[in-house]
Amino acid sequence: MKIIMLGAPGAGKGTQAKMIAERYQIPHVSTGDIFRANIKNGTELGKQAKEYMDKGLLVPDELTVKILLDRVAQPDCKNGYVLDGFPRTIPQAEVLDEALTKLNESIDYAVNVEVPDENIVKRMSGRRACLKCGATYHIEHIPPKQEGICDTCGSELVLRDDDKPETVQNRLKVYHEQTQPLIDFYTGKGVLKTVDGTQPMEKVFEDITSILG
Ligand code: ADP
Ligand code: ADP
Ligand code: ZN
Repeated sequence: MKIIMLGAPGAGKGTQAKMIAERYQIPHVSTGDIFRANIKNGTELGKQAKEYMDKGLLVPDELTVKILLDRVAQPDCKNGYVLDGFPRTIPQAEVLDEALTKLNESIDYAVNVEVPDENIVKRMSGRRACLKCGATYHIEHIPPKQEGICDTCGSELVLRDDDKPETVQNRLKVYHEQTQPLIDFYTGKGVLKTVDGTQPMEKVFEDITSILG
């Protein structure tokens, strides 16, 4: 099963994608996580990506597309995957579509996690991330067992640089301009499914699993 997660930054794509990955035993592929791992390891790609990410801008398609296509070509993606944070532009969606068409494949579901802008800024300021294992928490809604420490790997949790309110406003603007058009793109392909992302995380997941079967 090949699934795409759509939605504003902070809508809960990552949270749901991890649960989907576990339930359906497919890899969770997050371009944001791949970029952050590269930044952490000081790679050339990381340096280039960071300049855009810190401003709340998208990393250019040329850099992003290659990373994603390499990742989904790996053997563990053979039976499907859940893409979180890709595609984020129409050109990215078109490249993915062409690559899949060549393999006689296609996306099964594009799950649109809908959350109004008003809720987003609050969610982001409460988000805490583990840069080691990629786990995400929320100080009020989804707190770790021990404050500031990752349940999964014991590392310290951080507020991401790009989750500061000024940057979040930029990211929302970029979302509406460049990413939201994908909703029409995948509606046109007949695979778009929308869920109400303002519900508690378990309820959102229930709605998603009833769609995916
Ligand atoms: P969030 O989960 O909050 O939406 P991500 O972790 O998906 O954030 O992405 C963080 C940042 O990484 C984005 O703001 C953007 O700068 C960059 N990024 C991630 N995926 C893409 C992509 N597909 N195209 C361009 N930039 C991306
Ligand atoms: P995205 O990947 O779309 O940027 P995340 O999955 O990282 O979003 O979620 C953003 C923030 O909101 C995180 O702090 C996360 O713990 C929290 N969150 C996720 N889902 C919910 C939910 N259904 N209700 C409340 N908070 C949530
Ligand atoms: Zn961790």
